[in-house]
Amino acid sequence: MAHIKFFEQVNKNFDKAVDYLPHPPGILEQIRNCNSVYHVTFPLMRDGGKVEVLHAWRAEHSHHKLPTKGGIRYAMNVNEDEVMALAALMTYKCAIVDVPFGGAKGGVRINGRQYSKHELERVTRRFTFELIRKSFIGPGIDVPAPDYGTGAREMSWIVDTYNAMTENDVNAFACVTGKPIPQGGVRGRTEATGRGVFFGVREACEFADDMKRVGLEKGLEGKKVVVQGLGNVGYHAAKFIQEGGGIIVGLAEYEGAIYNPAGMDVEAVVKHRKNSGSILGFPGAKDLKASLEALELPCDILVPAALENQITMDNVDRIQAKIIAEAANGPVTADAGDALQEKGAIILPDMYLNAGGVTVSYFEWLKNLSHVRFGRMTKRFEEDINKKILKTIEDATGKKVSGSLLDRISRGPEEEDLVNSGLEETMINSYNQIREIREEYKKENMPLRTAAFICAINKIANSYQDLGIFP
Ligand code: NAD
Repeated sequence: MAHIKFFEQVNKNFDKAVDYLPHPPGILEQIRNCNSVYHVTFPLMRDGGKVEVLHAWRAEHSHHKLPTKGGIRYAMNVNEDEVMALAALMTYKCAIVDVPFGGAKGGVRINGRQYSKHELERVTRRFTFELIRKSFIGPGIDVPAPDYGTGAREMSWIVDTYNAMTENDVNAFACVTGKPIPQGGVRGRTEATGRGVFFGVREACEFADDMKRVGLEKGLEGKKVVVQGLGNVGYHAAKFIQEGGGIIVGLAEYEGAIYNPAGMDVEAVVKHRKNSGSILGFPGAKDLKASLEALELPCDILVPAALENQITMDNVDRIQAKIIAEAANGPVTADAGDALQEKGAIILPDMYLNAGGVTVSYFEWLKNLSHVRFGRMTKRFEEDINKKILKTIEDATGKKVSGSLLDRISRGPEEEDLVNSGLEETMINSYNQIREIREEYKKENMPLRTAAFICAINKIANSYQDLGIFP
Protein backbone atom coordinates (compact mmCIF):
# COMPACT_ATOMS: atom_id res chain seq x y z
CA MET A 1 0.00 0.00 0.00
CA ALA A 2 1.43 3.37 -1.01
CA HIS A 3 2.10 5.74 1.90
CA ILE A 4 -1.04 7.74 2.50
CA LYS A 5 -0.61 11.31 3.70
CA PHE A 6 -3.36 11.79 6.26
CA PHE A 7 -3.45 15.61 6.31
CA GLU A 8 -3.70 15.59 2.51
CA GLN A 9 -6.68 13.21 2.82
CA VAL A 10 -8.44 15.56 5.24
CA ASN A 11 -7.78 18.53 2.94
CA LYS A 12 -8.96 16.58 -0.12
CA ASN A 13 -12.27 16.15 1.67
CA PHE A 14 -12.22 19.83 2.74
CA ASP A 15 -11.78 20.88 -0.90
CA LYS A 16 -14.88 18.95 -1.95
CA ALA A 17 -16.94 21.31 0.26
CA VAL A 18 -15.32 24.50 -1.07
CA ASP A 19 -17.43 24.67 -4.25
CA TYR A 20 -20.55 24.95 -2.16
CA LEU A 21 -19.27 27.77 0.08
CA PRO A 22 -19.58 31.54 -0.39
CA HIS A 23 -16.47 32.51 1.62
CA PRO A 24 -13.47 34.32 0.10
CA PRO A 25 -10.45 32.10 -0.70
CA GLY A 26 -8.33 33.80 2.01
CA ILE A 27 -10.64 32.77 4.80
CA LEU A 28 -10.81 29.19 3.49
CA GLU A 29 -7.02 29.03 3.28
CA GLN A 30 -6.75 30.25 6.89
CA ILE A 31 -9.20 27.59 8.07
CA ARG A 32 -7.53 24.79 6.06
CA ASN A 33 -3.97 25.36 7.32
CA CYS A 34 -2.49 24.09 10.56
CA ASN A 35 -1.50 27.11 12.70
CA SER A 36 1.31 25.66 14.80
CA VAL A 37 3.18 22.39 15.32
CA TYR A 38 5.67 21.61 18.06
CA HIS A 39 8.06 18.68 17.56
CA VAL A 40 10.14 17.69 20.56
CA THR A 41 12.59 14.89 21.29
CA PHE A 42 13.48 13.85 24.82
CA PRO A 43 15.36 11.01 26.46
CA LEU A 44 13.68 8.20 28.35
CA MET A 45 15.61 6.11 30.84
CA ARG A 46 14.28 2.54 30.44
CA ASP A 47 13.84 0.45 33.60
CA GLY A 48 17.07 -1.41 32.84
CA GLY A 49 19.09 1.83 32.63
CA LYS A 50 19.26 2.11 28.81
CA VAL A 51 18.44 5.53 27.36
CA GLU A 52 16.10 5.92 24.40
CA VAL A 53 15.26 9.13 22.54
CA LEU A 54 11.55 9.61 21.87
CA HIS A 55 9.81 11.84 19.34
CA ALA A 56 6.62 13.67 20.29
CA TRP A 57 4.38 16.28 18.64
CA ARG A 58 1.59 18.68 19.46
CA ALA A 59 -0.29 20.42 16.67
CA GLU A 60 -2.73 23.30 17.15
CA HIS A 61 -4.70 23.53 13.95
CA SER A 62 -6.97 26.51 14.61
CA HIS A 63 -7.07 29.27 17.22
CA HIS A 64 -10.37 30.81 16.12
CA LYS A 65 -11.64 29.68 19.54
CA LEU A 66 -9.56 29.04 22.64
CA PRO A 67 -8.49 26.79 24.20
CA THR A 68 -7.57 24.34 21.49
CA LYS A 69 -8.52 20.76 22.26
CA GLY A 70 -7.56 17.27 21.18
CA GLY A 71 -6.24 13.93 22.38
CA ILE A 72 -2.73 12.65 22.90
CA ARG A 73 -1.98 9.25 21.39
CA TYR A 74 0.80 6.76 21.97
CA ALA A 75 1.47 4.73 18.83
CA MET A 76 4.35 3.78 16.56
CA ASN A 77 2.92 5.57 13.52
CA VAL A 78 2.64 8.97 15.22
CA ASN A 79 4.27 11.65 13.04
CA GLU A 80 3.89 15.31 12.15
CA ASP A 81 1.50 14.67 9.26
CA GLU A 82 -0.74 12.53 11.44
CA VAL A 83 -1.05 15.00 14.34
CA MET A 84 -1.74 17.85 11.92
CA ALA A 85 -4.49 15.84 10.23
CA LEU A 86 -6.02 14.79 13.54
CA ALA A 87 -5.82 18.38 14.84
CA ALA A 88 -7.65 19.57 11.72
CA LEU A 89 -10.37 16.96 12.26
CA MET A 90 -10.70 18.25 15.84
CA THR A 91 -11.31 21.80 14.57
CA TYR A 92 -14.14 20.61 12.31
CA LYS A 93 -15.49 18.22 14.92
CA CYS A 94 -15.76 20.93 17.59
CA ALA A 95 -17.55 23.23 15.15
CA ILE A 96 -20.04 20.52 14.15
CA VAL A 97 -21.07 19.78 17.74
CA ASP A 98 -20.91 23.46 18.82
CA VAL A 99 -18.08 22.97 21.27
CA PRO A 100 -16.28 26.35 21.51
CA PHE A 101 -12.70 25.10 21.01
CA GLY A 102 -10.10 25.15 18.27
CA GLY A 103 -8.62 21.82 17.16
CA ALA A 104 -5.38 20.26 18.41
CA LYS A 105 -3.76 16.83 18.65
CA GLY A 106 -0.62 15.34 20.11
CA GLY A 107 1.24 12.10 20.16
CA VAL A 108 4.34 10.25 21.22
CA ARG A 109 5.92 7.73 18.82
CA ILE A 110 5.93 4.76 21.14
CA ASN A 111 4.34 1.33 21.34
CA GLY A 112 2.75 1.55 24.79
CA ARG A 113 2.49 -2.24 25.10
CA GLN A 114 6.30 -2.53 25.16
CA TYR A 115 6.83 -0.16 28.10
CA SER A 116 6.25 -0.64 31.82
CA LYS A 117 3.81 1.53 33.76
CA HIS A 118 6.73 3.42 35.34
CA GLU A 119 8.30 4.08 31.94
CA LEU A 120 4.99 5.36 30.56
CA GLU A 121 4.62 7.63 33.59
CA ARG A 122 8.07 9.11 32.93
CA VAL A 123 7.21 9.62 29.26
CA THR A 124 3.90 11.31 30.08
CA ARG A 125 5.31 13.60 32.75
CA ARG A 126 8.28 14.61 30.56
CA PHE A 127 6.06 15.31 27.55
CA THR A 128 3.76 17.43 29.76
CA PHE A 129 6.78 19.35 31.03
CA GLU A 130 7.87 20.04 27.44
CA LEU A 131 4.35 21.24 26.58
CA ILE A 132 4.30 23.59 29.59
CA ARG A 133 7.70 25.04 28.63
CA LYS A 134 6.41 26.02 25.19
CA SER A 135 2.90 27.08 26.32
CA PHE A 136 1.25 24.20 24.50
CA ILE A 137 -0.94 23.26 27.47
CA GLY A 138 -3.18 25.18 29.87
CA PRO A 139 -6.89 25.57 30.73
CA GLY A 140 -7.21 28.56 28.38
CA ILE A 141 -4.47 27.55 25.91
CA ASP A 142 -4.59 23.92 24.83
CA VAL A 143 -6.33 21.07 26.64
CA PRO A 144 -5.34 17.44 25.82
CA ALA A 145 -7.51 14.35 26.29
CA PRO A 146 -7.15 10.56 25.89
CA ASP A 147 -6.75 8.99 22.47
CA TYR A 148 -5.30 5.80 21.00
CA GLY A 149 -3.01 4.17 23.58
CA THR A 150 -3.79 6.62 26.40
CA GLY A 151 -6.55 6.81 29.02
CA ALA A 152 -7.53 8.23 32.41
CA ARG A 153 -4.23 7.10 33.95
CA GLU A 154 -2.11 9.20 31.57
CA MET A 155 -4.48 12.18 31.99
CA SER A 156 -3.98 11.90 35.74
CA TRP A 157 -0.18 12.10 35.32
CA ILE A 158 -0.63 15.12 33.05
CA VAL A 159 -2.79 17.06 35.53
CA ASP A 160 -0.47 16.19 38.40
CA THR A 161 2.58 17.42 36.49
CA TYR A 162 0.76 20.58 35.43
CA ASN A 163 -0.26 21.20 39.05
CA ALA A 164 3.28 20.74 40.25
CA MET A 165 4.74 23.06 37.61
CA THR A 166 2.27 25.96 37.82
CA GLU A 167 1.70 28.24 40.79
CA ASN A 168 -1.68 29.06 42.29
CA ASP A 169 -3.69 28.24 39.19
CA VAL A 170 -7.15 27.71 40.63
CA ASN A 171 -8.27 26.28 37.28
CA ALA A 172 -5.36 23.86 36.90
CA PHE A 173 -7.66 20.81 36.72
CA ALA A 174 -9.08 22.18 33.46
CA CYS A 175 -5.69 21.71 31.74
CA VAL A 176 -6.66 18.21 30.53
CA THR A 177 -9.86 16.15 30.24
CA GLY A 178 -10.62 12.45 30.48
CA LYS A 179 -9.27 12.40 34.04
CA PRO A 180 -10.33 9.94 36.74
CA ILE A 181 -13.31 11.24 38.78
CA PRO A 182 -11.31 12.00 41.96
CA GLN A 183 -8.87 14.02 39.81
CA GLY A 184 -11.63 16.27 38.47
CA GLY A 185 -13.02 13.97 35.78
CA VAL A 186 -16.68 13.90 34.83
CA ARG A 187 -18.90 10.84 35.03
CA GLY A 188 -19.60 9.39 31.58
CA ARG A 189 -16.40 10.66 29.87
CA THR A 190 -14.79 7.21 29.51
CA GLU A 191 -17.80 5.83 27.66
CA ALA A 192 -18.61 9.10 25.86
CA THR A 193 -17.06 8.51 22.42
CA GLY A 194 -18.52 5.01 22.08
CA ARG A 195 -21.88 6.13 23.45
CA GLY A 196 -21.86 9.02 20.98
CA VAL A 197 -21.11 6.58 18.14
CA PHE A 198 -24.17 4.59 19.22
CA PHE A 199 -26.40 7.70 19.33
CA GLY A 200 -25.16 8.72 15.87
CA VAL A 201 -25.67 5.29 14.31
CA ARG A 202 -29.11 4.95 15.91
CA GLU A 203 -30.16 8.40 14.64
CA ALA A 204 -28.96 7.63 11.10
CA CYS A 205 -30.98 4.39 11.11
CA GLU A 206 -34.12 6.32 12.10
CA PHE A 207 -34.55 7.82 8.60
CA ALA A 208 -36.61 5.27 6.67
CA ASP A 209 -35.84 6.95 3.28
CA ASP A 210 -32.09 6.78 3.83
CA MET A 211 -32.28 3.17 4.97
CA LYS A 212 -34.44 2.21 1.99
CA ARG A 213 -31.86 3.71 -0.34
CA VAL A 214 -29.28 1.18 0.92
CA GLY A 215 -31.75 -1.70 1.07
CA LEU A 216 -32.25 -1.70 4.85
CA GLU A 217 -35.22 -1.37 7.18
CA LYS A 218 -35.65 1.64 9.50
CA GLY A 219 -34.16 1.28 12.98
CA LEU A 220 -31.03 -0.19 14.55
CA GLU A 221 -32.85 -3.27 15.87
CA GLY A 222 -31.61 -6.48 14.22
CA LYS A 223 -28.90 -4.85 12.09
CA LYS A 224 -25.71 -6.91 11.74
CA VAL A 225 -22.64 -5.05 12.93
CA VAL A 226 -18.85 -5.59 12.67
CA VAL A 227 -16.52 -3.59 14.94
CA GLN A 228 -12.76 -3.20 14.37
CA GLY A 229 -10.83 -2.37 17.56
CA LEU A 230 -11.99 -3.28 21.05
CA GLY A 231 -10.32 -0.37 22.84
CA ASN A 232 -12.09 2.49 24.55
CA VAL A 233 -14.12 3.62 21.54
CA GLY A 234 -14.72 0.22 19.89
CA TYR A 235 -15.67 -1.60 23.07
CA HIS A 236 -18.16 1.04 24.21
CA ALA A 237 -19.60 1.50 20.72
CA ALA A 238 -20.09 -2.29 20.40
CA LYS A 239 -21.60 -2.54 23.89
CA PHE A 240 -24.12 0.29 23.41
CA ILE A 241 -25.01 -0.81 19.87
CA GLN A 242 -25.70 -4.31 21.21
CA GLU A 243 -27.83 -2.87 24.04
CA GLY A 244 -29.66 -0.79 21.41
CA GLY A 245 -30.69 -3.91 19.46
CA GLY A 246 -27.80 -4.30 16.97
CA ILE A 247 -26.32 -7.81 16.50
CA ILE A 248 -22.53 -7.92 16.82
CA VAL A 249 -21.47 -10.51 14.20
CA GLY A 250 -17.76 -9.61 13.88
CA LEU A 251 -15.05 -8.22 16.16
CA ALA A 252 -11.44 -7.48 15.23
CA GLU A 253 -8.34 -6.79 17.29
CA TYR A 254 -4.71 -6.53 16.19
CA GLU A 255 -4.11 -10.27 16.83
CA GLY A 256 -7.01 -11.43 14.61
CA ALA A 257 -10.78 -11.32 14.23
CA ILE A 258 -13.82 -13.45 15.06
CA TYR A 259 -17.08 -13.92 13.19
CA ASN A 260 -20.41 -15.43 14.13
CA PRO A 261 -23.41 -14.52 11.93
CA ALA A 262 -25.75 -15.42 14.80
CA GLY A 263 -24.21 -12.70 16.99
CA MET A 264 -21.81 -12.54 19.95
CA ASP A 265 -22.05 -11.00 23.38
CA VAL A 266 -19.50 -8.19 23.64
CA GLU A 267 -18.89 -8.59 27.39
CA ALA A 268 -18.32 -12.33 26.96
CA VAL A 269 -15.76 -11.68 24.19
CA VAL A 270 -13.92 -9.12 26.33
CA LYS A 271 -13.85 -11.61 29.24
CA HIS A 272 -12.55 -14.35 26.93
CA ARG A 273 -9.79 -12.05 25.63
CA LYS A 274 -8.80 -11.06 29.16
CA ASN A 275 -8.57 -14.69 30.25
CA SER A 276 -6.91 -16.17 27.15
CA GLY A 277 -4.87 -13.17 25.99
CA SER A 278 -6.49 -13.25 22.52
CA ILE A 279 -9.78 -12.54 20.84
CA LEU A 280 -9.32 -15.75 18.81
CA GLY A 281 -10.87 -19.05 19.95
CA PHE A 282 -14.13 -17.49 21.19
CA PRO A 283 -16.69 -20.32 21.53
CA GLY A 284 -19.05 -20.57 18.55
CA ALA A 285 -17.15 -18.03 16.42
CA LYS A 286 -14.96 -18.54 13.35
CA ASP A 287 -11.37 -17.24 13.64
CA LEU A 288 -9.91 -14.92 10.99
CA LYS A 289 -6.14 -14.82 11.39
CA ALA A 290 -5.81 -11.78 9.11
CA SER A 291 -7.51 -9.13 11.20
CA LEU A 292 -8.11 -6.75 8.26
CA GLU A 293 -10.41 -9.36 6.66
CA ALA A 294 -13.00 -8.49 9.29
CA LEU A 295 -13.71 -5.29 7.35
CA GLU A 296 -14.87 -7.43 4.42
CA LEU A 297 -17.36 -9.56 6.39
CA PRO A 298 -21.03 -9.52 5.37
CA CYS A 299 -22.83 -7.03 7.63
CA ASP A 300 -25.12 -4.00 7.55
CA ILE A 301 -22.97 -1.66 9.63
CA LEU A 302 -19.16 -1.62 9.78
CA VAL A 303 -17.61 0.30 12.67
CA PRO A 304 -13.86 0.87 12.21
CA ALA A 305 -12.74 1.97 15.71
CA ALA A 306 -8.97 1.41 15.69
CA LEU A 307 -6.84 3.63 13.46
CA GLU A 308 -6.76 5.63 10.23
CA ASN A 309 -6.38 4.35 6.64
CA GLN A 310 -8.10 1.00 7.14
CA ILE A 311 -10.40 1.15 4.10
CA THR A 312 -8.32 2.11 1.08
CA MET A 313 -8.40 1.55 -2.69
CA ASP A 314 -6.81 -1.86 -1.91
CA ASN A 315 -9.83 -3.32 -0.11
CA VAL A 316 -12.74 -0.99 -0.85
CA ASP A 317 -14.20 -3.26 -3.54
CA ARG A 318 -14.59 -6.06 -1.03
CA ILE A 319 -16.41 -4.00 1.63
CA GLN A 320 -19.96 -5.35 1.96
CA ALA A 321 -21.39 -3.08 4.67
CA LYS A 322 -24.13 -0.62 3.68
CA ILE A 323 -23.27 1.80 6.47
CA ILE A 324 -19.69 2.64 7.44
CA ALA A 325 -19.67 4.26 10.87
CA GLU A 326 -16.31 6.01 11.32
CA ALA A 327 -15.71 5.65 15.05
CA ALA A 328 -11.94 6.02 14.53
CA ASN A 329 -10.42 9.12 12.98
CA GLY A 330 -9.77 8.82 9.26
CA PRO A 331 -10.40 5.07 8.80
CA VAL A 332 -11.54 5.57 5.17
CA THR A 333 -9.21 7.30 2.70
CA ALA A 334 -10.68 10.06 0.52
CA ASP A 335 -10.58 7.95 -2.69
CA ALA A 336 -12.03 4.89 -0.97
CA GLY A 337 -14.77 7.16 0.42
CA ASP A 338 -15.66 8.23 -3.13
CA ALA A 339 -15.76 4.59 -4.24
CA LEU A 340 -18.07 3.65 -1.35
CA GLN A 341 -20.32 6.61 -2.13
CA GLU A 342 -20.54 5.45 -5.75
CA LYS A 343 -21.47 1.97 -4.55
CA GLY A 344 -24.33 3.65 -2.66
CA ALA A 345 -23.03 3.10 0.87
CA ILE A 346 -23.61 5.64 3.65
CA ILE A 347 -20.51 6.89 5.47
CA LEU A 348 -21.15 8.44 8.87
CA PRO A 349 -18.09 10.72 8.97
CA ASP A 350 -15.57 10.64 11.84
CA MET A 351 -15.72 14.38 12.41
CA TYR A 352 -19.34 13.97 13.40
CA LEU A 353 -19.60 10.40 14.64
CA ASN A 354 -16.79 10.30 17.19
CA ALA A 355 -17.43 13.83 18.50
CA GLY A 356 -19.03 12.44 21.68
CA GLY A 357 -15.62 12.37 23.34
CA VAL A 358 -14.89 16.05 22.84
CA THR A 359 -18.47 16.96 23.71
CA VAL A 360 -18.17 15.34 27.13
CA SER A 361 -14.61 16.68 27.49
CA TYR A 362 -16.19 20.11 27.10
CA PHE A 363 -18.59 19.25 29.94
CA GLU A 364 -15.61 18.13 32.06
CA TRP A 365 -13.76 21.39 31.33
CA LEU A 366 -16.87 23.39 32.32
CA LYS A 367 -17.12 21.36 35.54
CA ASN A 368 -13.46 22.08 36.34
CA LEU A 369 -13.89 25.81 35.75
CA SER A 370 -17.08 25.98 37.80
CA HIS A 371 -15.60 23.84 40.58
CA VAL A 372 -18.89 22.07 41.21
CA ARG A 373 -20.33 18.69 40.22
CA PHE A 374 -23.20 18.89 37.71
CA GLY A 375 -26.52 18.48 39.50
CA ARG A 376 -25.18 19.26 42.97
CA MET A 377 -27.20 22.45 43.34
CA THR A 378 -30.37 21.28 41.59
CA LYS A 379 -30.83 17.52 42.15
CA ARG A 380 -32.76 17.70 45.43
CA PHE A 381 -34.67 20.80 44.36
CA GLU A 382 -35.90 19.07 41.20
CA GLU A 383 -36.77 15.96 43.17
CA ASP A 384 -38.88 18.02 45.62
CA ILE A 385 -40.70 19.82 42.78
CA ASN A 386 -41.42 16.50 41.02
CA LYS A 387 -42.80 15.05 44.26
CA LYS A 388 -45.02 18.10 44.77
CA ILE A 389 -46.37 17.81 41.20
CA LEU A 390 -47.11 14.11 41.71
CA LYS A 391 -48.81 14.83 45.06
CA THR A 392 -50.99 17.47 43.35
CA ILE A 393 -51.95 14.91 40.66
CA GLU A 394 -52.70 12.29 43.33
CA ASP A 395 -54.88 14.74 45.26
CA ALA A 396 -56.73 15.82 42.10
CA THR A 397 -57.37 12.28 40.80
CA GLY A 398 -57.68 10.44 44.09
CA LYS A 399 -55.27 7.80 42.72
CA LYS A 400 -51.94 6.83 44.30
CA VAL A 401 -48.67 6.48 42.35
CA SER A 402 -46.85 3.29 43.42
CA GLY A 403 -43.68 3.70 45.51
CA SER A 404 -41.19 2.47 42.91
CA LEU A 405 -42.80 4.50 40.09
CA LEU A 406 -42.83 7.56 42.36
CA ASP A 407 -39.09 7.16 42.96
CA ARG A 408 -38.38 6.78 39.25
CA ILE A 409 -40.48 9.75 38.16
CA SER A 410 -39.44 12.11 40.94
CA ARG A 411 -35.71 11.35 40.94
CA GLY A 412 -33.51 14.42 40.41
CA PRO A 413 -30.74 14.01 37.82
CA GLU A 414 -27.26 12.82 38.81
CA GLU A 415 -24.14 14.14 37.06
CA GLU A 416 -24.01 11.15 34.71
CA ASP A 417 -27.69 11.56 33.72
CA LEU A 418 -27.01 15.17 32.75
CA VAL A 419 -23.82 14.32 30.86
CA ASN A 420 -25.45 11.49 28.90
CA SER A 421 -28.49 13.55 28.13
CA GLY A 422 -26.36 16.49 26.93
CA LEU A 423 -24.40 14.07 24.75
CA GLU A 424 -27.54 12.49 23.26
CA GLU A 425 -29.03 15.91 22.48
CA THR A 426 -25.77 17.01 20.82
CA MET A 427 -25.39 13.89 18.68
CA ILE A 428 -29.01 13.98 17.49
CA ASN A 429 -29.03 17.74 16.76
CA SER A 430 -25.72 17.65 14.94
CA TYR A 431 -26.75 14.70 12.77
CA ASN A 432 -29.89 16.53 11.76
CA GLN A 433 -27.92 19.68 10.90
CA ILE A 434 -25.61 17.70 8.62
CA ARG A 435 -28.40 15.66 7.09
CA GLU A 436 -30.38 18.80 6.28
CA ILE A 437 -27.39 20.23 4.38
CA ARG A 438 -27.05 16.94 2.49
CA GLU A 439 -30.77 17.00 1.66
CA GLU A 440 -30.33 20.44 0.05
CA TYR A 441 -27.86 18.86 -2.38
CA LYS A 442 -29.58 15.50 -2.68
CA LYS A 443 -29.66 15.63 -6.49
CA GLU A 444 -25.88 15.92 -6.53
CA ASN A 445 -25.56 12.82 -4.35
CA MET A 446 -23.61 14.77 -1.73
CA PRO A 447 -21.89 12.56 0.85
CA LEU A 448 -22.57 13.26 4.53
CA ARG A 449 -18.85 14.06 4.92
CA THR A 450 -19.05 16.97 2.50
CA ALA A 451 -22.20 18.17 4.29
CA ALA A 452 -20.32 17.92 7.60
CA PHE A 453 -17.44 20.00 6.17
CA ILE A 454 -19.91 22.63 4.89
CA CYS A 455 -21.51 22.77 8.34
CA ALA A 456 -18.13 23.12 10.10
CA ILE A 457 -16.48 25.56 7.68
CA ASN A 458 -19.51 27.88 7.73
CA LYS A 459 -19.41 28.09 11.51
CA ILE A 460 -15.63 28.70 11.62
CA ALA A 461 -15.75 31.26 8.81
CA ASN A 462 -18.55 33.13 10.60
CA SER A 463 -16.47 33.12 13.75
CA TYR A 464 -13.47 34.64 11.92
CA GLN A 465 -15.75 37.23 10.35
CA ASP A 466 -17.24 38.09 13.77
CA LEU A 467 -13.70 38.61 15.05
CA GLY A 468 -13.27 41.19 12.31
CA ILE A 469 -10.28 39.36 10.86
CA PHE A 470 -11.91 39.04 7.45
CA PRO A 471 -14.30 41.56 5.85
P1 NAD B 1 -7.55 2.53 22.28
O1 NAD B 1 -6.08 2.50 22.36
O2 NAD B 1 -8.33 2.51 23.55
O3 NAD B 1 -8.10 1.34 21.36
C1 NAD B 1 -7.66 1.02 20.08
C2 NAD B 1 -7.82 -0.48 19.92
O4 NAD B 1 -7.58 -0.85 18.56
C3 NAD B 1 -6.83 -1.26 20.79
O5 NAD B 1 -7.52 -2.23 21.53
C4 NAD B 1 -5.89 -1.88 19.76
O6 NAD B 1 -5.34 -3.11 20.18
C5 NAD B 1 -6.82 -2.04 18.58
N1 NAD B 1 -6.10 -2.21 17.30
C6 NAD B 1 -4.90 -1.73 16.94
N2 NAD B 1 -4.58 -2.10 15.68
C7 NAD B 1 -5.63 -2.84 15.24
C8 NAD B 1 -5.90 -3.52 14.03
N3 NAD B 1 -5.05 -3.48 13.01
N4 NAD B 1 -7.06 -4.21 13.93
C9 NAD B 1 -7.94 -4.25 14.96
N5 NAD B 1 -7.73 -3.61 16.13
C10 NAD B 1 -6.60 -2.92 16.28
O7 NAD B 1 -7.89 3.84 21.41
P2 NAD B 1 -9.28 4.59 21.33
O8 NAD B 1 -9.24 5.72 22.28
O9 NAD B 1 -10.40 3.63 21.37
O10 NAD B 1 -9.16 5.24 19.86
C11 NAD B 1 -9.50 4.53 18.69
C12 NAD B 1 -9.78 5.51 17.57
O11 NAD B 1 -10.83 6.40 17.98
C13 NAD B 1 -8.61 6.39 17.17
O12 NAD B 1 -8.70 6.66 15.79
C14 NAD B 1 -8.87 7.66 17.95
O13 NAD B 1 -8.26 8.80 17.37
C15 NAD B 1 -10.39 7.73 17.85
N6 NAD B 1 -11.02 8.58 18.87
C16 NAD B 1 -10.85 8.33 20.20
C17 NAD B 1 -11.50 9.14 21.12
C18 NAD B 1 -11.45 8.87 22.62
O14 NAD B 1 -12.19 9.53 23.37
N7 NAD B 1 -10.66 7.93 23.10
C19 NAD B 1 -12.29 10.21 20.70
C20 NAD B 1 -12.45 10.42 19.32
C21 NAD B 1 -11.81 9.60 18.43
